Amino acid sequence: AISVRDLRKSYGDTEILRGVSFDVAQSEVLCVLGPSGSGKSTMLKCLNLLEQPSSGSVVVSGTALTDPKVDVDAARARIGMVFQHFNLFGHLNVLDNVTLALRHVRGTGRAEAEEIGNAQLARLGLAHLARQRPANLSGGQQQRVAIARSLAMRPEVMLFDEATSALDPELVGDVLAVMRELAATGMTMVVVTHEIGFAREVADRVMFMDDGVIAEEGEARAVLDAPSSPRFREFLSKVL
Ligand code: ATP
Ligand code: MG
Repeated sequence: AISVRDLRKSYGDTEILRGVSFDVAQSEVLCVLGPSGSGKSTMLKCLNLLEQPSSGSVVVSGTALTDPKVDVDAARARIGMVFQHFNLFGHLNVLDNVTLALRHVRGTGRAEAEEIGNAQLARLGLAHLARQRPANLSGGQQQRVAIARSLAMRPEVMLFDEATSALDPELVGDVLAVMRELAATGMTMVVVTHEIGFAREVADRVMFMDDGVIAEEGEARAVLDAPSSPRFREFLSKVL
């Protein structure tokens, strides 16, 4: 579970996150929508300390990441993150990409790491590609490898930042299907996306960010079917 209280983030004199508070319960899926520049990626990066919050608190599975005494690496290892650009290592094959962090961050031995890696690849329909280089895979397959890489670390929470935005339209469905499947297994997820259909089907709750604050938040279908803030209504009318 995730608990965020009065999260603020400034770059220089500009406050990008201006007091963001929300909770994500265990096994809940929260979709975050909002216009470009509203602070969605900044908020997500503050959840695993890729960005240092200026103030406020972030608690993930009972650990206050914003406590100065926290072991940042240990805390971060419990939070998986998947980006728009998957950043696989081109000189490593798929299985080595998936097992790299297990072996070098967690110190898992090769045999065990490969067992875990192969199991994750199989789960995501990629077992036959384990020995391929990333360049030989489609964008959708590469993004699924990036998800397998995150899952191999057995995270308690998964964060997705526009994971399908860079994909050709016909490849988006495969990646969304994997994310839907993951949600069905009970993974706690925060998903920044422009895929309103996914939000409607998979999210428990939807949050609309505008200019560094949460402009609207609530049960997914209720909020999407009847947005109350004019900005959210306008946003939905443009992306639908
Ligand atoms: P998009 O939909 O385009 O991805 P977003 O909602 O994810 O947008 P952010 O990337 O969080 O928005 O950016 C919010 C604001 O913070 C933007 O105005 C951006 O220019 C600014 N910003 C982000 N990172 C930095 C940085 N490292 N230094 C200065 N300003 C930044
Ligand atoms: Mg972004």
